[in-house]
Amino acid sequence: MPEKANEMRYVSTRGSAPALGFEDAMLTGLARDGGLYLPDVWPQLAPADIADLSGVSYAQAAYRVMQPFAGADIPDKEFEEIVAAAYATFSHAAVTPLVEIAPGQWLLELFHGPTLAFKDIAMQLLGRLMDRALKRRKARATIVVATSGDTGGAAIEAFSGRESIEIFVLHPHGRVSDVQRRQMTTASADNVHNIAIQGSFDDCQALVKALFNDLERRDALSLAGVNSINWARIMAQSVYYFVAAVALGAPGRAVRFCVPTGNFGDIFAGYAASRMGLPIERLVIATNVNDILVRTLKTGRYAPERAVATSSPSMDIQISSNFERLIFEAAGRDAIRVRQLMDDLAGQGGFTLTDNELESMRALFAAESVNEEDVEGAIRDVARETGYVCDPHTAVGVAAARRRKSDGVPTVILATAHPAKFPEAVEAATGQRPDVPPRLEEMLGANERFSVLENDFDALAAFIEARA
Ligand SMILES: *Cc1c(COP(=O)(O)O)cnc(C)c1O
Repeated sequence: MPEKANEMRYVSTRGSAPALGFEDAMLTGLARDGGLYLPDVWPQLAPADIADLSGVSYAQAAYRVMQPFAGADIPDKEFEEIVAAAYATFSHAAVTPLVEIAPGQWLLELFHGPTLAFKDIAMQLLGRLMDRALKRRKARATIVVATSGDTGGAAIEAFSGRESIEIFVLHPHGRVSDVQRRQMTTASADNVHNIAIQGSFDDCQALVKALFNDLERRDALSLAGVNSINWARIMAQSVYYFVAAVALGAPGRAVRFCVPTGNFGDIFAGYAASRMGLPIERLVIATNVNDILVRTLKTGRYAPERAVATSSPSMDIQISSNFERLIFEAAGRDAIRVRQLMDDLAGQGGFTLTDNELESMRALFAAESVNEEDVEGAIRDVARETGYVCDPHTAVGVAAARRRKSDGVPTVILATAHPAKFPEAVEAATGQRPDVPPRLEEMLGANERFSVLENDFDALAAFIEARA
């Protein structure tokens, strides 16, 4: 009998939290030292393993790409079944189909899950994996999650009605689309609690982080995090980079990915795929006018400003949490360096990368920011050229991709949401409201339930403690 591969260990970017196995890292979310978990080594897929992904189902490809990350924590057979169940909820047989919108330019449709945005791809898996882990441990957990619009709906869909879990979702009051809000607030299960915070997404995320860093409350409430700081989400998202690249000729041909970016989770999954051996020519960070990452890659200075509301609300973010993971990598996994930069961010409102760190990032990443006119123009151009209607987040990616010379490299733009989630923006660009899929209509109930809270830590903590 061949020996079972060693159990994968996860280490914190800030170096002082204990290393954990897969299941513990998943249940914990944010590390206890405030850092983010990463695998201690990147598992490798050989070119032959990558080539073998051609022609297999999405679920099978997902199982093969993710199995080394779960390691010995979940029996292989059971993991394979959970993965298959997660992707059976998608309405397209290919799960993440490619659509060509111009010669050499493809959209990777990531929105065929239950809530019509790419967050379902990780959340459908995470809900099942967490439920299994908690039941096995006879434990309960309180999920507290911040959303810029799509994470909340996806998390509610994945966790509502699960007995082992109470879930609290914080969204920025008045700053998500109507469809996004109603997807969250019309959920009827008793374990779902929606909170509209009077502030921005960055405020919501800061509240959640503060709650996790309050270790006493964290333990008392058994807090679990499902924001994209949760490693299992990044892991699940690395799969579609493999699937898309293989369909376009990998491993024999390198592919470029252009990724509408907010919290840097989705594009970090592309980085993970690249570290696992997938030939990626370039990862293009596409942002709306909330362009902190573009400025950082240009100047080395990371300094958040106030987030501006745009037609792509899920990307109205100035504090890109997952960027910490890339810094850890670019700094040669020097946790002391990461801690220093995060202290500078907290104390002085920003930090500056070294030339070496910046060069290491620029070797794989490029960045483009596009304004509201560019977004509207991209939706209109694609519709006019092909009849295809894309959502404003995807349009940020299209506009960014079209700024760059292709050099003959196939470009994949991640289509992160269905246009029906953002009908106003689509109508403004094309003159027509997008068709609403029956699936979306069915899920929007009649009665909205949510509480409005001030951007105040004590008020939030009291609210959660009274209900968890
Ligand atoms: C969350 C989201 C993004 C941004 O993804 P990050 O992982 O936060 O960078 C882009 N588009 C849509 C539609 C989203 O929901």
